[in-house]
Amino acid sequence: MIALRFRPIAIASALALLFAPLSFAKSKAKPAAKPSATPAAKPTAPPSPDWQLIKVGSRDYLSVDNIAKFYKLLGNVDTTGKTVVLNNGRNQLQLTLDSREAIVNGIRNWLCFPVIAKDDKFLVSRIDLAKTIEPQLRPQMIQRAGKVQTIVLDPGHGGFDKGAGSSFGSEKMYALDVARQLRPLLQAKGFKVVMTRENDVFIPLEVRARIANATRDSIFVSIHFNATDANREATGFEIFSLTPRGAPSTADDSLALHFVNMQAGSPVDAQSFELSAAVFHSMLGHIPEFDRGIKRARFAVLRQTKIPSVLVEGGFLSETGDSKRIADPAWRKQLAESLCAGIENYRNLVEKKQRPMLVAEYRAQAAGEITVVDLVSPPSRLDSSPAPAIIPVTNPSTNATPDPNREP
Ligand SMILES: [Zn+2]
Repeated sequence: MIALRFRPIAIASALALLFAPLSFAKSKAKPAAKPSATPAAKPTAPPSPDWQLIKVGSRDYLSVDNIAKFYKLLGNVDTTGKTVVLNNGRNQLQLTLDSREAIVNGIRNWLCFPVIAKDDKFLVSRIDLAKTIEPQLRPQMIQRAGKVQTIVLDPGHGGFDKGAGSSFGSEKMYALDVARQLRPLLQAKGFKVVMTRENDVFIPLEVRARIANATRDSIFVSIHFNATDANREATGFEIFSLTPRGAPSTADDSLALHFVNMQAGSPVDAQSFELSAAVFHSMLGHIPEFDRGIKRARFAVLRQTKIPSVLVEGGFLSETGDSKRIADPAWRKQLAESLCAGIENYRNLVEKKQRPMLVAEYRAQAAGEITVVDLVSPPSRLDSSPAPAIIPVTNPSTNATPDPNREP
């Protein structure tokens, strides 16, 4: 057990320190800020009593104790001493030493950098805190998200590009069908819908991005299905948003420095990440597929779109169970419904600052349990209930990830 005591925190000044150095991605400066010789993580704000930055090599970290204190979370360490669970009954964060795998509010997340230990403290990189953890623990702090009036649906592949396939059918057909089923659901919720393709035609990736960028007040949702030769048993859902600047993508196994390049991020990467979390909670909340996590990638459609964008992978055509389910139009309708609910939750976040539903809330709703979710006000007290169950982490090397060099 970690003993943690709490005191009132000057949140504004704390945030100034946390985000000021990361303003390359959030500032009013032009999108796709040019790589600069100055290290991205150089603090420019005055020291804050709330965040104690710890430098390890060239990277800034924050201790798990510091994170717990800031977000008013209570900590428990499991018996191995390697996994810590922070919880306050409203937010839950599970972190594992030497791992990039984290569980945030019941959903798997892939951090950019592993959790490390120094002087008996668990440390989380500042980029992960700012880009992955903060948007989920306080989604209502979302900034500059714009309006969400039009959904650009992008069914992957098409024409000669069949994408992945199973003995039942091809990715290009399934993706188009999900988009076609999703369109009227979104329209019924008051959204406008633009499709990058309506038929079985080939559309280059840059044209898809151009369509998205030409659509005002919009978000971009690319729909794909997975396949891998590396592990025929790989199964489940995953969702991608753009890798932040200065960080490796999830599929970059090595954390060697050459992966930590200075490719441009996106001025809306926080919004894209929040969209991916809102949609992914809904997908898993509606359909009990394996949770492969929220991932980062620099796929062309994510890189080239200037609006909040995500890429959904709706299961594996290379796996028997997944491929049978995907072949069922009624299952694909369920997938479309889950995407619609997630997108609607994102709009509620942007327009009403209403926190998106979490996977457990969707499941409780489906089970007919009444959930009263206080979405805006902070917790009035710390939850002293017993420690939450620890979700076993998976080893990415035994849970094949598709070839990162292949466009999905
Ligand atoms: Zn694909």
